[in-house]
Amino acid sequence: MVSTEESASPSRAPDCLVCAYFRVTWDPDFPRACDVFGIKTRQLPSLEVFAATGRHCPAFERKLPVDRTRPPAPGGSGSDDDGGLWA
Ligand code: SF4
Repeated sequence: MVSTEESASPSRAPDCLVCAYFRVTWDPDFPRACDVFGIKTRQLPSLEVFAATGRHCPAFERKLPVDRTRPPAPGGSGSDDDGGLWA
């Protein structure tokens, strides 16, 4: 039987790489960061959270998918033959 406290927390650390609060830093010694906990680390921030608190991160929020559709060409119909620098 699982206790109430255990069932309220996830069974494993969330994947920071798909979390809205994860970011990459410019610091080569601490390239991964979490904006919620204000930490920079070598490993995934969720592992640091677990090591420090004994609980898995409760703040995970899946980031929204990026819209990768191409924007329309500026002022053009979208074809390659509509003028441009070399016309
Ligand atoms: S909020 Fe949690 S899951 Fe998201 S980046 Fe921070 S530690 Fe990772």
